[in-house]
Formats: sequence, structure tokens, C-alpha cells
Amino acid sequence: MTYDADNIFARILRGEIPCHRVHEDADTLAFMDIMPQTEGHTLVIPKASAEDIFSAPPAVLAATMQATQRIAAAVRKAFDAPGVMIAQLNGPAAGQTVFHLHFHVIPRYAGKDFRMKSGPMADQATLAAHAARIRAAL
Ligand code: 5GP
Repeated sequence: MTYDADNIFARILRGEIPCHRVHEDADTLAFMDIMPQTEGHTLVIPKASAEDIFSAPPAVLAATMQATQRIAAAVRKAFDAPGVMIAQLNGPAAGQTVFHLHFHVIPRYAGKDFRMKSGPMADQATLAAHAARIRAAL
């Protein structure tokens, strides 16, 4: 599969579609997932055009994993989460729906399940407040 430059995350990176931004550096962007599986669900993506983990050069992966570690620490602090799940899907058979490499950072709590993918959309004010909480914890 070739990289589709009009996928939703490419459009977010170009500023064509808004997002609730948590952090940005030269190589990566972190923002709130619009259909959070738990409160605080954040996505970390490389700015480079890579469809999945197999097509990302090592330097892109390194930068994205470092950003993911940093964002996960801030999410853990901001949401007082004893656990943090990092998920990354490759290919439709694995459940990937957006074909620009991304890491899900999902706060987890003992005995509390997470919602299935493609659940309800969170309201914009809630996402904005959650992004601000994570930014404050960075
Ligand atoms: P995947 O299923 O590919 O692993 O993850 C794609 C994620 O992108 C899903 O969790 C979905 O909720 C999220 N998503 C889809 N469209 C948008 C959007 O327009 N904005 C944001 N912030 N997240 C999106």
C-alpha cells in the first residue's frame, strides 16, 4: 500500500483539520484521540509520512518512541493513572483505521475496562480540557 497523503492525520499535520494539541516538536505531534477509549487517550504521530511501523525509518521510530514515552509519563500524571497502555496497530487485519503511523497512549485503572475502538466522540470542551491537563504535566 502506498502512503495516502490525504489521510486524516496527514491533514491534521498540515493544519487542514483541527486537533486538541498536547505537544509538538520538530519530528512529532501529540493530540487527543477524538473517540477516546478512556479519558486522556492521546495519539503520538511522526511528522514524516509513514503508513505503519514497517515503513518508518529507524530515526523516525526513535523520535516517535521518545515522544511517546514522554507523553505517556504526562498522561499518567495528569490522569493519576496506575497503568498506561501503549497500542499501535498495523494493517486493517490488526484494526488499523488511519494509515499514518501512530501510537495510542491510554490511561488504565485496575478493574476498569477500556471502550472499544470507534466508540462515541468526546465533546470538544472535554478534549480541550484534557489536552490542557496533559500539557500542564509535561
Ligand atoms: P487506529 O484504529 O488506526 O489504530 O487508530 C486511529 C485512531 O484515530 C482512532 O482511535 C480514532 O478514534 C482516531 N481518529 C479518527 N479520526 C480522528 C480525527 O479526525 N481526529 C482525531 N483526533 N482522532 C481521530
